[in-house]
Amino acid sequence: FSNGNGVKGSDPLFDELAKEVSAMSDFSTHEAMFFRLDTETNCLYMIFVHSTKRGQAQGGTRLKYEGYEKLEGAIMDGMRLSKGMTDKNSISEIWWGGGKAVICPLTMDIFNEIDKHKMENKDKIYLNLDLRKSVFVNFGKFVASLGGIYIAAEDMNTKTTDMLTILSVCRFVTCLPPEVGGSANPSGWTAQGIFKSMLATVMHFENKNDLSGNTVNIQGLGNVGLPLAELVLKSGARLNVYDTDAEAYETLASYGDKVKAVSANEIYTIQSDIFAPCAIGGILNKDTIPLLNCRYVIGAANNQLRDFDEDYKLLNARNIIYLPDFFINRMGIINCANEQYGRLENDLKDEVEKVYSETLELLADCDATSKTPQEVALKWATEKGEILHPIWGHRSIQLLNNYIARTK
Ligand code: NAD
Repeated sequence: FSNGNGVKGSDPLFDELAKEVSAMSDFSTHEAMFFRLDTETNCLYMIFVHSTKRGQAQGGTRLKYEGYEKLEGAIMDGMRLSKGMTDKNSISEIWWGGGKAVICPLTMDIFNEIDKHKMENKDKIYLNLDLRKSVFVNFGKFVASLGGIYIAAEDMNTKTTDMLTILSVCRFVTCLPPEVGGSANPSGWTAQGIFKSMLATVMHFENKNDLSGNTVNIQGLGNVGLPLAELVLKSGARLNVYDTDAEAYETLASYGDKVKAVSANEIYTIQSDIFAPCAIGGILNKDTIPLLNCRYVIGAANNQLRDFDEDYKLLNARNIIYLPDFFINRMGIINCANEQYGRLENDLKDEVEKVYSETLELLADCDATSKTPQEVALKWATEKGEILHPIWGHRSIQLLNNYIARTK
C-alpha cells in the first residue's frame, strides 16, 4: 500500500495493517511500504521506500530479531532507517533514493534456525543453509516483484553471500561478492572515512594533522572498528577499546600498552578525546550521554542517536561535538554505489578525501551559523535530496502505479 500521494490500492490481507501504519507520524513522509508474509519460512518481509527523487530506493536489508516487541516498533524503525538512507545517499551525492528492508523472523526460534552458524577461523559458516537460502530466495522474489523500486544491499545480520542468493532470482541487489563483479566488503573504506573525519575534526579544533597525543575510545572491534583502531594507532593516538566478543582484541595485542581493554561502562566514562561508536545503534541517549568524558563523538555505527530529535541537543548542551553518522559513515554505501557501472579504486580514494574536506566545511558552517553538525548536515542532505535524478528522477512513482495496476 502507499501513502495515497497519487498512488492507490492495497492488498486486502493487509488492510488493517495499512490503517494502523497510515496513522503513524512518519508515514506521510514516505512514498511507499511493502509487506509480505512468507509462510514457507515464517518471516515477515518489509520494504520501506522513503524517497525516489534521486533514483531507485537503495538501502540495506537487515535480518532483525531483537528489539522489536511489537510490529509497530519494526515499522517505525524501518521508516526511520529508510529516511536515513535518503539523507546518506543525498549527502554522498549518489543517484539513489532511500529505502530499507527488514526481514523479521516471527519467533526467536526461527531466527536462531536461520542464523545458526559456527565460528571457524573467525569466519561465520552457516550450518542451516537450506533455510537461510529459502529466506533470501523468497525475499529476492519479493524484491523482483516490485520491478526496480527498491534495490537490496547487505546490512545487519546479512552477508554478501545472502546478496548472491537474492541475485539468483532478482537483478535489483548490490553488495555482491567480487567473484560475480560485486564491490565486496566495504568496511575498510568505511573505516578510512571515519578516520578522515577524525583528522578533519582535530585539524579544525586543534590545528593538528594527526592524532598524536589524542586518546580514542572505540566501542566495537568488528569489520569497521578493527581497521579504524589500526589507523588511529598508526596516527599516534592511544586507544581504549571494548567489544562484547573477547576474541576481537587479539589482533591489537601487538600494540602493547597503547591499547587498553576496558569494560562496557568504562568505554563511555573513561577520559578520551574521541568516542567512536562502531558497534550498534541507539547508544547515544539520555542514559549514556551524561556518562561521556570526551570532546568529540565520531563513529561508524548507524543511528547512534536513540532519539533523533533530542539526543544531539543533549550532546550539544555538554559541549560535545557529534558528527552525524550518516555524514561520516558514507563510504560503505559509496563503495557499492554504481556497482553496475564498474568500480575504480581511484574513485573511492577521491571520495575518502571528500569526507575530509566536507567535514571541514561542515564544521566551518557550524561556526558561521551557530548550528550543530547534525543540524547543518541534515539541512544539506534535505537540499540535495530534493534534486531529481537527471534522467530517472522520481520515476518510482510511475513504477509504483504500474506495480499496483499489475497486482490489483
Ligand atoms: P560488525 O558486526 O563487523 O562489528 C560489530 C562489532 O561490535 C562486533 O565485533 C561485535 O562483537 C561488537 N559488539 C556488538 N555489540 C556490542 C556492544 N554492545 N558493545 C561493544 N561491542 C559490541 O559490524 P561492522 O560492519 O563493523 O559495523 C559496525 C557499525 O557500523 C554497525 O552499526 C553498522 O551498521 C555501521 N556501518 C558499517 C558499515 C560497513 O561498511 N561495515 C558502513 C556504514 C555503517
